Amino acid sequence: MPTRASDLLTLTREGLYCPLGRFHVDPTWPVERALITHGHADHARAGHGQVLATPETLRIMAVRYGAEFCRQRQEAQLGAALRVGDVTVRFAPAGHVLGSAQIAIERDGVRVVVSGDYKRAPDPTCLPFEVVPCDVFITEATFGLPVFTHPDTRGEVRKLLESVKLFPERAHIVGAYALGKAQRVMALLREEGWDRPIHLHGAMEKLTTLYKEEGVPLGDTPKVVAAERKDLHGAIVLCPPSSIQDLWSRKFPDPVTCFASGWMRVRARARQKGVELPLVISDHSDWPDLCRTIRDTGAGEVWVTHGQEDALVHWCGTQGIRAKPLHLLGYGDDGEVEGTSEASSEAEVAA
Ligand SMILES: [Zn+2]
Ligand SMILES: [Zn+2]
Repeated sequence: MPTRASDLLTLTREGLYCPLGRFHVDPTWPVERALITHGHADHARAGHGQVLATPETLRIMAVRYGAEFCRQRQEAQLGAALRVGDVTVRFAPAGHVLGSAQIAIERDGVRVVVSGDYKRAPDPTCLPFEVVPCDVFITEATFGLPVFTHPDTRGEVRKLLESVKLFPERAHIVGAYALGKAQRVMALLREEGWDRPIHLHGAMEKLTTLYKEEGVPLGDTPKVVAAERKDLHGAIVLCPPSSIQDLWSRKFPDPVTCFASGWMRVRARARQKGVELPLVISDHSDWPDLCRTIRDTGAGEVWVTHGQEDALVHWCGTQGIRAKPLHLLGYGDDGEVEGTSEASSEAEVAA
């Protein structure tokens, strides 16, 4: 019998499962064998038997969960074909964070691609997304509404630098997720010529060191020392999003609170978080890039894992592409990634 897409990928309680390969992809529960697309906590969890992932993702998991995060680990080199059970798998860059990969699963000329999270916008901290032609494309839809178009990140970083120039006595506290976003903001600041130190909240130190060891130049990034906070006039300080509102950030001289996230396109969210300077910088695809990517893969069928699934499924229908929402639970809701399943009405979106 010829191989069908459903032999290559199906849905179980633990998440996406390949029956012929006998493995899960980004399972939300501990499983015997897991293939992991990237290190964000909603995709990469501790406690699996065997884990197959890129070397960078394995390192990120070890930093976050300790060296014993699984029983046995195997490195996947980008582009290399690997036999797993009765299928061939190949990891390809996803352009999302350091080490992020799409996973192509193939047999008898039928190919399914699980993209994990991905973006097409340039990112100096990781390899660019690679289009992998396939029959079935599995996509997220964090920003799956036509109102979501992300601006050029350089303009956003320039806004930050202009504010620093305008208010040299104030500290600029930038909320950014500890894996990926923070390091991308640092790299973008360096590209725009900021050569002074970028001060880090302690929670960002380990992953930033890992990025540097993996060859991403981020310059001088000292950890903030408690006693020095009040003296950091005109400094740029990066911290986890949860810290921009707490006491920690108030110890700086007259802080300007900033937040780097695709959700900053939604003005109400910025207001709600008390963000003075929203920076629209996203590690996910915006609506035009979701649509472009689906077209680029040539897939005849699309499964949408999480986010604003319905609009993207509808769009696929208008293009003659079969599509279904998977309503996967456990993705995008742990505070690590940018989105939650909260609806964002068009009215909320900043002009
Ligand atoms: Zn992610
Ligand atoms: Zn995700």
